[in-house]
Amino acid sequence: MADFKTIGIVGAGQMGNGIAHVCALAGYDVILNDLSQDALEHGLATIETNMTRQVSRELLSVEDMKTALHRIQTTTEYAPFGSIDLAIEAATENREIKEKIFASLCGVVPDHTILATNTSSISVTRLASTTDRPERFIGLHFMNPVPLMNLMEIIRGLATDQATYEAALALAKRLGKTITNAEDYPAFIVNRILMPMINEAVYALYEGVGSVESIDTALHLGANHPMGPLTLADFIGLDTCLSIMQVLHDGLADTKYRPCPLLVKYVEAGWLGRKAGRGFYDYRGDTPVPTR
Ligand code: NAD
Repeated sequence: MADFKTIGIVGAGQMGNGIAHVCALAGYDVILNDLSQDALEHGLATIETNMTRQVSRELLSVEDMKTALHRIQTTTEYAPFGSIDLAIEAATENREIKEKIFASLCGVVPDHTILATNTSSISVTRLASTTDRPERFIGLHFMNPVPLMNLMEIIRGLATDQATYEAALALAKRLGKTITNAEDYPAFIVNRILMPMINEAVYALYEGVGSVESIDTALHLGANHPMGPLTLADFIGLDTCLSIMQVLHDGLADTKYRPCPLLVKYVEAGWLGRKAGRGFYDYRGDTPVPTR
Protein backbone atom coordinates (compact mmCIF):
# COMPACT_ATOMS: atom_id res chain seq x y z
CA MET A 1 0.00 0.00 0.00
CA ALA A 2 1.52 3.32 -1.09
CA ASP A 3 1.65 6.10 1.49
CA PHE A 4 -1.34 8.45 1.64
CA LYS A 5 -1.09 11.79 -0.12
CA THR A 6 -4.40 13.43 0.73
CA ILE A 7 -6.40 12.97 3.90
CA GLY A 8 -10.02 14.06 4.25
CA ILE A 9 -11.23 14.84 7.76
CA VAL A 10 -14.92 15.10 8.66
CA GLY A 11 -15.58 17.30 11.70
CA ALA A 12 -13.49 20.38 12.48
CA GLY A 13 -14.15 20.37 16.24
CA GLN A 14 -11.61 19.75 18.98
CA MET A 15 -10.45 16.45 17.50
CA GLY A 16 -10.88 17.14 13.79
CA ASN A 17 -8.83 20.33 13.87
CA GLY A 18 -6.16 18.62 15.98
CA ILE A 19 -5.93 15.73 13.49
CA ALA A 20 -5.75 18.22 10.59
CA HIS A 21 -2.98 20.06 12.45
CA VAL A 22 -0.72 17.00 12.87
CA CYS A 23 -1.45 15.63 9.38
CA ALA A 24 -0.58 18.95 7.70
CA LEU A 25 2.64 19.23 9.71
CA ALA A 26 3.54 15.69 8.65
CA GLY A 27 3.25 16.75 5.00
CA TYR A 28 -0.16 15.37 4.03
CA ASP A 29 -2.59 17.47 2.02
CA VAL A 30 -5.68 17.88 4.18
CA ILE A 31 -9.30 18.55 3.29
CA LEU A 32 -11.29 19.51 6.37
CA ASN A 33 -15.07 19.23 6.28
CA ASP A 34 -17.77 20.41 8.70
CA LEU A 35 -21.43 21.37 8.54
CA SER A 36 -20.93 25.15 8.49
CA GLN A 37 -18.44 27.75 7.39
CA ASP A 38 -18.41 29.00 11.00
CA ALA A 39 -17.28 25.63 12.33
CA LEU A 40 -14.54 25.47 9.69
CA GLU A 41 -13.32 28.99 10.45
CA HIS A 42 -13.26 28.22 14.16
CA GLY A 43 -11.35 25.00 13.46
CA LEU A 44 -8.78 26.75 11.27
CA ALA A 45 -8.34 29.57 13.79
CA THR A 46 -7.66 26.98 16.50
CA ILE A 47 -5.03 25.29 14.31
CA GLU A 48 -3.35 28.64 13.69
CA THR A 49 -3.37 29.55 17.40
CA ASN A 50 -1.94 26.16 18.35
CA MET A 51 0.76 26.27 15.67
CA THR A 52 1.68 29.82 16.70
CA ARG A 53 2.14 28.51 20.24
CA GLN A 54 4.47 25.82 18.87
CA VAL A 55 6.44 28.52 17.03
CA SER A 56 6.77 30.60 20.21
CA ARG A 57 8.09 27.51 22.01
CA GLU A 58 10.57 26.99 19.16
CA LEU A 59 9.06 23.61 18.30
CA LEU A 60 8.16 24.79 14.81
CA SER A 61 9.55 27.34 12.34
CA VAL A 62 7.36 30.10 10.91
CA GLU A 63 8.13 28.74 7.44
CA ASP A 64 6.93 25.21 8.32
CA MET A 65 3.81 26.64 9.92
CA LYS A 66 2.97 28.60 6.77
CA THR A 67 3.58 25.54 4.57
CA ALA A 68 1.40 23.37 6.80
CA LEU A 69 -1.46 25.89 6.87
CA HIS A 70 -1.35 26.06 3.06
CA ARG A 71 -1.87 22.31 2.92
CA ILE A 72 -5.27 22.60 4.64
CA GLN A 73 -8.31 23.17 2.46
CA THR A 74 -11.79 23.52 4.00
CA THR A 75 -15.20 22.60 2.64
CA THR A 76 -18.80 22.04 3.68
CA GLU A 77 -19.22 19.63 0.72
CA TYR A 78 -18.13 16.05 0.13
CA ALA A 79 -17.26 16.55 -3.57
CA PRO A 80 -13.62 17.57 -2.85
CA PHE A 81 -13.17 14.16 -1.16
CA GLY A 82 -13.11 12.59 -4.67
CA SER A 83 -9.32 12.52 -4.57
CA ILE A 84 -8.54 11.45 -1.00
CA ASP A 85 -6.61 8.34 0.05
CA LEU A 86 -7.81 8.27 3.65
CA ALA A 87 -10.91 9.67 5.35
CA ILE A 88 -10.87 10.24 9.09
CA GLU A 89 -14.31 10.84 10.57
CA ALA A 90 -14.13 13.01 13.70
CA ALA A 91 -17.72 14.23 14.00
CA THR A 92 -19.99 14.23 17.06
CA GLU A 93 -20.06 10.98 19.06
CA ASN A 94 -23.38 9.68 17.72
CA ARG A 95 -23.82 6.48 15.73
CA GLU A 96 -26.54 7.78 13.38
CA ILE A 97 -24.50 10.88 12.51
CA LYS A 98 -21.43 8.78 11.79
CA GLU A 99 -23.35 6.24 9.68
CA LYS A 100 -24.81 9.04 7.55
CA ILE A 101 -21.35 10.54 7.05
CA PHE A 102 -19.91 7.20 5.92
CA ALA A 103 -22.84 6.66 3.54
CA SER A 104 -22.10 10.05 1.96
CA LEU A 105 -18.37 9.32 1.83
CA CYS A 106 -18.89 5.96 0.08
CA GLY A 107 -20.63 7.82 -2.73
CA VAL A 108 -17.63 10.05 -3.51
CA VAL A 109 -14.29 8.59 -2.39
CA PRO A 110 -12.19 6.41 -4.72
CA ASP A 111 -12.22 2.61 -4.32
CA HIS A 112 -8.75 2.47 -2.76
CA THR A 113 -9.62 5.00 -0.01
CA ILE A 114 -9.41 3.77 3.55
CA LEU A 115 -12.18 4.92 5.89
CA ALA A 116 -11.32 5.55 9.52
CA THR A 117 -13.32 6.68 12.52
CA ASN A 118 -12.01 8.56 15.53
CA THR A 119 -14.94 7.35 17.64
CA SER A 120 -14.26 7.04 21.37
CA SER A 121 -16.63 4.17 21.93
CA ILE A 122 -18.89 3.12 19.04
CA SER A 123 -18.43 -0.32 17.43
CA VAL A 124 -15.97 -0.08 14.53
CA THR A 125 -17.37 -3.34 13.15
CA ARG A 126 -20.87 -1.93 13.11
CA LEU A 127 -19.87 1.35 11.43
CA ALA A 128 -17.79 -0.62 8.92
CA SER A 129 -20.72 -2.89 8.08
CA THR A 130 -22.75 0.11 6.88
CA THR A 131 -20.07 0.98 4.27
CA ASP A 132 -19.14 -0.59 0.92
CA ARG A 133 -15.66 -1.54 2.24
CA PRO A 134 -15.60 -3.10 5.73
CA GLU A 135 -12.15 -4.56 4.96
CA ARG A 136 -10.75 -1.04 4.39
CA PHE A 137 -12.31 0.42 7.53
CA ILE A 138 -10.49 0.98 10.85
CA GLY A 139 -10.73 2.82 14.17
CA LEU A 140 -8.00 5.43 14.72
CA HIS A 141 -8.62 6.85 18.17
CA PHE A 142 -6.48 9.96 18.61
CA MET A 143 -6.16 11.59 22.03
CA ASN A 144 -7.04 15.18 22.93
CA PRO A 145 -5.20 17.53 22.36
CA VAL A 146 -3.93 15.71 19.28
CA PRO A 147 -0.74 17.75 18.74
CA LEU A 148 0.39 17.06 22.32
CA MET A 149 -0.79 13.54 23.08
CA ASN A 150 1.44 10.72 21.90
CA LEU A 151 -1.01 7.85 21.78
CA MET A 152 -3.11 6.54 18.92
CA GLU A 153 -5.37 3.63 19.84
CA ILE A 154 -5.92 1.39 16.80
CA ILE A 155 -9.10 -0.70 16.61
CA ARG A 156 -9.59 -3.30 13.90
CA GLY A 157 -13.17 -4.24 13.06
CA LEU A 158 -14.00 -7.87 12.44
CA ALA A 159 -13.44 -7.43 8.70
CA THR A 160 -10.47 -5.00 8.71
CA ASP A 161 -7.73 -6.42 6.46
CA GLN A 162 -4.00 -6.54 7.15
CA ALA A 163 -3.12 -3.95 4.48
CA THR A 164 -5.45 -1.41 6.13
CA TYR A 165 -3.92 -2.11 9.53
CA GLU A 166 -0.42 -1.69 8.11
CA ALA A 167 -1.42 1.59 6.45
CA ALA A 168 -2.64 2.77 9.86
CA LEU A 169 0.68 1.80 11.44
CA ALA A 170 2.56 3.73 8.73
CA LEU A 171 0.35 6.78 9.37
CA ALA A 172 0.98 6.60 13.12
CA LYS A 173 4.73 6.38 12.50
CA ARG A 174 4.74 9.40 10.18
CA LEU A 175 2.69 11.39 12.72
CA GLY A 176 5.12 10.39 15.48
CA LYS A 177 2.42 8.62 17.50
CA THR A 178 2.87 5.53 19.63
CA ILE A 179 0.14 3.00 19.04
CA THR A 180 -1.77 0.65 21.24
CA ASN A 181 -4.00 -2.08 19.83
CA ALA A 182 -7.50 -2.51 21.23
CA GLU A 183 -10.13 -5.10 20.38
CA ASP A 184 -13.44 -3.77 19.13
CA TYR A 185 -15.52 -3.80 22.33
CA PRO A 186 -17.43 -0.80 23.73
CA ALA A 187 -15.13 2.19 24.36
CA PHE A 188 -12.02 0.06 23.59
CA ILE A 189 -9.23 0.41 26.20
CA VAL A 190 -8.69 4.08 27.06
CA ASN A 191 -12.32 5.02 27.63
CA ARG A 192 -13.34 1.63 29.07
CA ILE A 193 -11.12 2.54 31.99
CA LEU A 194 -11.07 6.35 31.98
CA MET A 195 -14.76 7.13 31.51
CA PRO A 196 -16.17 5.07 34.44
CA MET A 197 -13.70 6.97 36.65
CA ILE A 198 -14.98 10.30 35.36
CA ASN A 199 -18.58 9.12 35.75
CA GLU A 200 -17.78 8.07 39.34
CA ALA A 201 -16.36 11.54 40.01
CA VAL A 202 -19.69 13.02 38.81
CA TYR A 203 -21.52 10.58 41.13
CA ALA A 204 -19.33 11.77 44.01
CA LEU A 205 -20.36 15.34 43.18
CA TYR A 206 -24.04 14.32 42.76
CA GLU A 207 -24.08 12.57 46.14
CA GLY A 208 -22.33 15.48 47.87
CA VAL A 209 -19.17 13.56 48.74
CA GLY A 210 -17.24 16.65 47.69
CA SER A 211 -17.43 19.89 45.74
CA VAL A 212 -16.07 20.24 42.20
CA GLU A 213 -12.85 21.67 43.59
CA SER A 214 -12.40 19.11 46.35
CA ILE A 215 -12.95 16.18 43.97
CA ASP A 216 -10.47 17.60 41.46
CA THR A 217 -7.89 18.42 44.11
CA ALA A 218 -8.25 14.94 45.60
CA LEU A 219 -7.40 13.16 42.35
CA HIS A 220 -4.92 15.75 41.09
CA LEU A 221 -2.77 15.67 44.23
CA GLY A 222 -3.90 12.40 45.80
CA ALA A 223 -3.51 10.20 42.73
CA ASN A 224 -0.98 12.42 40.97
CA HIS A 225 -3.22 12.83 37.91
CA PRO A 226 -2.19 15.81 35.75
CA MET A 227 -5.68 17.27 36.25
CA GLY A 228 -8.78 16.36 38.25
CA PRO A 229 -11.53 14.21 36.66
CA LEU A 230 -14.09 17.03 36.41
CA THR A 231 -11.56 19.35 34.73
CA LEU A 232 -10.76 16.47 32.39
CA ALA A 233 -14.46 15.85 31.69
CA ASP A 234 -14.89 19.53 30.75
CA PHE A 235 -11.87 19.24 28.50
CA ILE A 236 -13.20 16.14 26.70
CA GLY A 237 -16.75 17.54 26.40
CA LEU A 238 -19.62 16.38 28.61
CA ASP A 239 -21.73 15.34 25.58
CA THR A 240 -18.91 13.04 24.50
CA CYS A 241 -18.53 11.68 28.07
CA LEU A 242 -22.27 10.95 28.25
CA SER A 243 -22.33 9.26 24.82
CA ILE A 244 -19.42 7.02 25.81
CA MET A 245 -21.16 6.02 29.08
CA GLN A 246 -24.33 5.23 27.12
CA VAL A 247 -22.36 3.02 24.72
CA LEU A 248 -20.75 1.21 27.68
CA HIS A 249 -24.10 0.82 29.44
CA ASP A 250 -25.93 -0.43 26.34
CA GLY A 251 -23.07 -2.56 25.05
CA LEU A 252 -22.06 -4.29 28.29
CA ALA A 253 -25.47 -4.25 30.01
CA ASP A 254 -23.95 -3.74 33.44
CA THR A 255 -25.40 -1.17 35.88
CA LYS A 256 -21.89 -0.14 36.89
CA TYR A 257 -21.84 1.89 33.65
CA ARG A 258 -25.06 3.81 34.42
CA PRO A 259 -24.46 7.44 33.38
CA CYS A 260 -24.76 9.75 36.39
CA PRO A 261 -28.03 11.77 36.27
CA LEU A 262 -26.02 14.92 37.05
CA LEU A 263 -23.93 14.37 33.91
CA VAL A 264 -27.19 14.04 31.95
CA LYS A 265 -28.45 17.30 33.50
CA TYR A 266 -25.31 19.24 32.50
CA VAL A 267 -25.64 17.97 28.93
CA GLU A 268 -29.35 18.85 28.88
CA ALA A 269 -28.42 22.38 29.97
CA GLY A 270 -25.92 22.67 27.12
CA TRP A 271 -23.13 23.05 29.68
CA LEU A 272 -20.84 20.82 27.66
CA GLY A 273 -17.50 21.89 29.14
CA ARG A 274 -14.74 24.08 27.77
CA LYS A 275 -15.98 24.07 24.18
CA ALA A 276 -19.32 25.56 25.35
CA GLY A 277 -17.75 28.02 27.84
CA ARG A 278 -19.34 26.24 30.79
CA GLY A 279 -19.40 22.78 32.33
CA PHE A 280 -18.30 21.74 35.81
CA TYR A 281 -16.42 25.04 35.65
CA ASP A 282 -17.46 28.35 34.12
CA TYR A 283 -14.76 29.44 31.66
CA ARG A 284 -16.26 32.75 30.61
CA GLY A 285 -14.12 34.86 32.95
CA ASP A 286 -10.34 35.06 33.38
CA THR A 287 -10.11 32.00 35.60
CA PRO A 288 -12.38 28.93 35.70
CA VAL A 289 -15.02 29.10 38.45
CA PRO A 290 -16.65 25.87 39.75
CA THR A 291 -20.36 25.67 38.94
CA ARG A 292 -21.13 23.58 42.06
P1 NAD B 1 -16.68 18.50 18.97
O1 NAD B 1 -18.04 18.68 19.49
O2 NAD B 1 -15.58 19.42 19.39
O3 NAD B 1 -16.69 18.51 17.37
C1 NAD B 1 -17.57 17.75 16.59
C2 NAD B 1 -17.67 18.43 15.23
O4 NAD B 1 -18.37 17.57 14.34
C3 NAD B 1 -18.45 19.76 15.29
O5 NAD B 1 -17.66 20.79 14.71
C4 NAD B 1 -19.70 19.46 14.46
O6 NAD B 1 -20.17 20.57 13.75
C5 NAD B 1 -19.15 18.38 13.52
N1 NAD B 1 -20.19 17.59 12.87
C6 NAD B 1 -21.31 17.05 13.43
N2 NAD B 1 -22.02 16.40 12.48
C7 NAD B 1 -21.33 16.53 11.31
C8 NAD B 1 -21.54 16.10 9.99
N3 NAD B 1 -22.64 15.40 9.65
N4 NAD B 1 -20.65 16.41 9.04
C9 NAD B 1 -19.53 17.13 9.35
N5 NAD B 1 -19.27 17.56 10.60
C10 NAD B 1 -20.16 17.27 11.56
O7 NAD B 1 -16.29 16.97 19.33
P2 NAD B 1 -14.83 16.32 19.43
O8 NAD B 1 -14.38 16.39 20.84
O9 NAD B 1 -13.98 16.87 18.35
O10 NAD B 1 -15.18 14.80 19.14
C11 NAD B 1 -15.27 14.32 17.81
C12 NAD B 1 -15.07 12.81 17.79
O11 NAD B 1 -13.81 12.50 18.36
C13 NAD B 1 -16.12 12.04 18.62
O12 NAD B 1 -16.38 10.82 17.97
C14 NAD B 1 -15.40 11.82 19.94
O13 NAD B 1 -15.86 10.70 20.63
C15 NAD B 1 -13.98 11.59 19.44
N6 NAD B 1 -12.93 11.84 20.43
C16 NAD B 1 -13.05 12.87 21.32
C17 NAD B 1 -12.04 13.10 22.24
C18 NAD B 1 -12.13 14.24 23.22
O14 NAD B 1 -11.37 14.26 24.20
N7 NAD B 1 -12.99 15.22 23.02
C19 NAD B 1 -10.90 12.27 22.26
C20 NAD B 1 -10.80 11.24 21.33
C21 NAD B 1 -11.83 11.03 20.41
